[in-house]
Amino acid sequence: MATKQVYFFGDGKAEGNAKMKELLGGKGANLAEMSRLGITVPAGFTITTEVCTYFMKTGGKYPEGLKQEVETALKKVEKIMEARFGDARNPLLFSVRSGARASMPGMMETVLNIGLNSTTIPGLITKAGNKRFVYDAYRRLIMMYSDVVMEKAVGIEPKEGMGIRAQLEHEMQKMKDAKGVKFDLELDADDLKKLVQIFKKKIKQVLKKDFPDDPGEQLWGAISAVFRSWNGKRAKAYRKIENIPDDWGTAVNVQAMVFGNLGQNSATGVAFTRDPATGENKFYGEFLVNAQGEDVVAGIRTPQAINEVSKTDASKHLPSLEELMPELYKQLAKIRTKLEKHYRDMQDIEFTIQDGKLFMLQTRVGKRNGMAAVRMAVEMCKEGLISKEEAILRVKPEQLDELLHPMLDPKDEAKAEKLAGGLPAGPGGAMGQIVFTADDAEAQAKQGKKVILVRNETSPEDVHGMKAAQAILTAMGGMTSHAALVARGWGKCCIVGCGALNINAAKKVLSVNGKRLREGDWISLNGTKGVVYKDKIGLLPADPGKNVYYKELMTWADKLRKLGIRTNADTPDDAKAARNFGAEGIGLCRTEHMFFGPDRITAMRQMILADDEAGRKKALKKLLPLQRKDFIGIFKVMDGLPVTIRTLDPPLHEFLPNDEVSQREMAKQMGVSVEAIQAKVQSLHEANPMLGHRGCRLGITYPEITAMQVQAIIEAACHVAKQGVKVHPEIMIPLVGTKQELENQRNVAVETAEKVMQKAGVRVKYLVGTMIEIPRAALTADQVAEVAEFFSFGTNDLTQMTFGYSRDDAVKFLPDYLSKKILPAEPFQTLDQEGVGQLVDMGIQRGRATRKDLKVGICGEHGGDPKSIDFCHRVGMNYVSCSPFRVPIARLAAAHAATR
Ligand code: PEP
Ligand code: MG
Repeated sequence: MATKQVYFFGDGKAEGNAKMKELLGGKGANLAEMSRLGITVPAGFTITTEVCTYFMKTGGKYPEGLKQEVETALKKVEKIMEARFGDARNPLLFSVRSGARASMPGMMETVLNIGLNSTTIPGLITKAGNKRFVYDAYRRLIMMYSDVVMEKAVGIEPKEGMGIRAQLEHEMQKMKDAKGVKFDLELDADDLKKLVQIFKKKIKQVLKKDFPDDPGEQLWGAISAVFRSWNGKRAKAYRKIENIPDDWGTAVNVQAMVFGNLGQNSATGVAFTRDPATGENKFYGEFLVNAQGEDVVAGIRTPQAINEVSKTDASKHLPSLEELMPELYKQLAKIRTKLEKHYRDMQDIEFTIQDGKLFMLQTRVGKRNGMAAVRMAVEMCKEGLISKEEAILRVKPEQLDELLHPMLDPKDEAKAEKLAGGLPAGPGGAMGQIVFTADDAEAQAKQGKKVILVRNETSPEDVHGMKAAQAILTAMGGMTSHAALVARGWGKCCIVGCGALNINAAKKVLSVNGKRLREGDWISLNGTKGVVYKDKIGLLPADPGKNVYYKELMTWADKLRKLGIRTNADTPDDAKAARNFGAEGIGLCRTEHMFFGPDRITAMRQMILADDEAGRKKALKKLLPLQRKDFIGIFKVMDGLPVTIRTLDPPLHEFLPNDEVSQREMAKQMGVSVEAIQAKVQSLHEANPMLGHRGCRLGITYPEITAMQVQAIIEAACHVAKQGVKVHPEIMIPLVGTKQELENQRNVAVETAEKVMQKAGVRVKYLVGTMIEIPRAALTADQVAEVAEFFSFGTNDLTQMTFGYSRDDAVKFLPDYLSKKILPAEPFQTLDQEGVGQLVDMGIQRGRATRKDLKVGICGEHGGDPKSIDFCHRVGMNYVSCSPFRVPIARLAAAHAATR
């Protein structure tokens, strides 16, 4: 435990700084930094994350000396703020907020207005000159405190709608109904004074405890509750999704309260130093006059824009901050520039104006979607704020996914029935079936349904369902509401503030502009424009080619990266898509996929059913022209680039039907008896087909299959070469475990190729290489490389065989392995560098010991995974190969690897 547990900030000074996020959390570190920068923040202090871990470990004890340190810091704050905590005449109030190393928006607790009690209330009324304000602050304290400290923190889990907060809200509603008013603001000071008495009675009745009147008790209650909220349900769920370690802990920030709800001269708001949805270099934000911060985020009132460019359909008729308080807006804009220059990144800020004085409450690096991340990175580099390398590192490879995201087909969209409009919180298009709760979203998505989560507003409790949904639609909330923030962070399509929705979640129905929809009904969202449509609308693939920022960033990335990027593609169309995405060759063409087409499967089955070589050759002859045609198509698309074609890999039973109905159909079609088919299926049956007669083993038993495939490849190559296409075929033999296996297949390939080229009268340069996907091949890679002209690591099989986990069945237990932390990541998604990685590394080194310039790539799923790509870079591969849509992600990930 570090000796110092409390770090003070305020009045242009601070004991901490921005680099101390681990100890002070993001919020605490940045408050300290802002204070050092001379930006006005309400004075306060941060209790470290180490205190949190101590508190957790000891079941709720505080380390020695903490109380004293808090006392000392509190005194300093009192001095700066010229007020005293608990003082009858000049009281100081505190906010108590969480702040972890990584931002966890809304996942932990906050308590505001700590220090209001029977003694301080009269003093504050005199000081603020506003009785209503004081009682309103008090009722907020009671609501928050009873919920966070007296209920959640002690582990009470009330039934849905029976939480103390909901019960108090119900009391407040009752009072409004009795008065015949709609808004909280319509309750006057005396109403609120009565209300707090009702609240206190209710609390005593429900929680069997008095609401504490002692400011010290309130403060420590709040601090403990915030520490405890680190292990609250939703914080835990969020950490799991975001991969945030459980042992980090949160810091607690205790800060002097400033009020945005002191009247028309006060306000509170949130802003981004650039537009987080588009990345445009425009100051973007929202605020509310006479409100507290929670009002902006809760999305109950429609926030106003801070300036003209931030105005939306919902706020265009309302005056901006720039119009209402021009002097303060100028100050805020200056701070914006200062913060961006200092942090050299887009900031997400919170501010409060108390009676005409501007305070910054928070700054942090702002979340942004992929499109915005790319634009900001490129523009900030051009503005000289960051280097090209930094610009590249600013965009997470996965974020490019969003640029590659589908949009609603504009033609269909133009004809579609518009249901309502809302705020465009997360771009892209989506369609799905309506669900009303996060649990339903999760459950139905698990069944493979595409769902859209529709709620009044989302809360951090909904994150699991939000993650599972295709898109999120809320009736309330602004661009900075919970739903908007979370969706933006994930790059998910999202519309918020869709006021026309009337949702009855209990009955699972909604009405919107006279239409009734129920659970399971299809809707479509345009998250870029904020429009909701009835029914399904077709989705168009994204067109990153039109995005100038993306294109520029990718050229920087391409210059930096050392790894080549290829694609796994089996058709000319896929190859074309991949080439458009920047693929520099095909790393894996799985030829078996070509045998499943309706025009081929019969010939393939005839080949399998044949009893002898002559029969097989006859059937293969029918397949030959079809394969050749496929290869001609692919070679033409990949003109000038290498194309790795793998010979037949799966066990033959995969080409025969399993069920009797299909077997009968096949029998009829082929003019054979169903018994003959069943006998064949029986004879092909294997206990462990993935370890059985597949890969090169098939080609060794039936060399005519390999010969036919090589003939098709080389004939196609000769054919296109004659037309002037630059063709570079690479014949790849799968599932090799010994040098002799490869030798056998290489001989077949070379013999066939020579014959074809002689006959065609042209020569094409081709390579014969192997997949390394059996541990033995990696171990004996020096021998294998005597025969192989290239290696391509098939890490799907290599993972299967190294772990001994069946690729097809591991889903049954891998989730348990992940949740029980037996494995850190899904090994079929992210390469196990510790184990499988050793084989890869060794395979490369041994292979290159024999053949110095052996070309090495990867074509397992890991070839598209950024972490695995980093590994491939480090072990000196020449290229990675992945599915077409992951090509841009791989390009950027390879640049990241080269930059680090
Ligand atoms: C592999 O095993 O990694 C591979 C690419 O081959 P397949 O997935 O087709 O077995
Ligand atoms: Mg394989």
